[in-house]
Amino acid sequence: MEENKELTRGEQLRKALVYDRKTGYDRLDPQELEVMETYCVGYKQFLDAGKTERECVDRTIALAEAAGFRAYARGMELKPGDKIYRVNRGKAIMLAVMGRKGLEEGVNISASHIDSPRLDLKQNPLYEDSELAFLKTHYYGGIRKYQWVTIPLELHGVIALKSGEVVRVSVGDGEGDPLFTIDDLLPHLGVKQSKNPLSEAIPAETLNILVGSRPLRDDEGTDRVKLQVLELLNRKYGIVEEDFLSAELCAVPAYKATDIGFDRSMIGAYGHDDRVCSYAALAALLQLDTPEHTAVCMLADKEEIGSEGVSGMKSAAFDTFMEDLCAGQNIPLRACYEKSFCLSADVTAAYDPNFADVYEKRNSAFVNHGMALCKYTGSRGKSGASDASAEVVGHVRRVLDNADVFWQMAELGKVDEGGGGTVAMYMAERNIDTLDAGVPVLSMHAPFETVGKLDCYMTFKGMKAIFEA
Ligand code: MN
Ligand code: MN
Repeated sequence: MEENKELTRGEQLRKALVYDRKTGYDRLDPQELEVMETYCVGYKQFLDAGKTERECVDRTIALAEAAGFRAYARGMELKPGDKIYRVNRGKAIMLAVMGRKGLEEGVNISASHIDSPRLDLKQNPLYEDSELAFLKTHYYGGIRKYQWVTIPLELHGVIALKSGEVVRVSVGDGEGDPLFTIDDLLPHLGVKQSKNPLSEAIPAETLNILVGSRPLRDDEGTDRVKLQVLELLNRKYGIVEEDFLSAELCAVPAYKATDIGFDRSMIGAYGHDDRVCSYAALAALLQLDTPEHTAVCMLADKEEIGSEGVSGMKSAAFDTFMEDLCAGQNIPLRACYEKSFCLSADVTAAYDPNFADVYEKRNSAFVNHGMALCKYTGSRGKSGASDASAEVVGHVRRVLDNADVFWQMAELGKVDEGGGGTVAMYMAERNIDTLDAGVPVLSMHAPFETVGKLDCYMTFKGMKAIFEA
């Protein structure tokens, strides 16, 4: 221990031995503030352009191609520095920058997700009741239903026609577009409703989206408002009611990503979970030249409903992509996996002093303290966690510290208060060392979530350091 005459013994010991947790703003080089702001401008654009996983994939392709990436075809010859991507059914995308070392040395992966909680339309959505037209919904992911009423909504998605043609729908984000909303009870008549627990106050079957009120003129039939809506849809998209059966339409909040606070230190938006990590990983990958190890960026779908399905992280689509790359170097896939590392890049809960009783302050993530590492997630005794080893955490500490990345260790909330999972366990199942890390979020899964700019930027820096490790 270094002697310092000006410090008391207690001060010396404190400096040398005690882990100091403090805001990143006390350490951030003022020169870096501008870089951080520029990064956040790009992130806000990414959010506004991608309100569904399909739109995020489209935006990712555009950014990747502008950075020299090309679509990968099986058997394509690859050399170090080559930049490729493969899209899985328009809803997930894998990108890679080939490294100097062979795939038998393992790859550095970031796995994040681009789906976010929302309201999906049912397959028979449109109906009229009391001269108002509505769309029935079935929510996607963990939402608090009371948060989704009386807010402006947009409608995004696709309608697959019998002809094989796929019609894209996007209403609300264009200039002059109308919006939609879900109504709620007025306080004057909400006496009984107000006595219900939050989870029961808004039953799922009342999350019906208001889409019309004007009846078809000069008609004696029934459901004239619905008919008028159908006519408008037919004129704009060429669809009939039956086409909803093979559609994938969802209502998402009609909010643009915006700075929050007098000091503009935060960003409010829909879908930070998990586009804030997805964009960090993507932006870092796009800046790579030729890394030592091949860098792989996985942007998955379906995390919010358990990573199921062909476009989720459990799907073999990821293994197929990796196997194709390995085949090009005559390496068994599993030999590549066992030497690989994955950062499961997903958001965690930021400590919220307004709800202090559900957090354990000593182990919570704080806004502006940097990228949050979670050795484990899960609930009730770490159930559903991949629980990274001490050695893996040690490796990441070293990589992040060497790259001047501000980071913090975090746990979601108090033990037995709740919990959650990520894609980490599905990567770990593949025999890939995996650690959870990401941006702390306030109001996670709400239609409008908040993050700190410093944490967004540090997560980008962290992803870059991992790819370059
Ligand atoms: Mn997430
Ligand atoms: Mn989530």
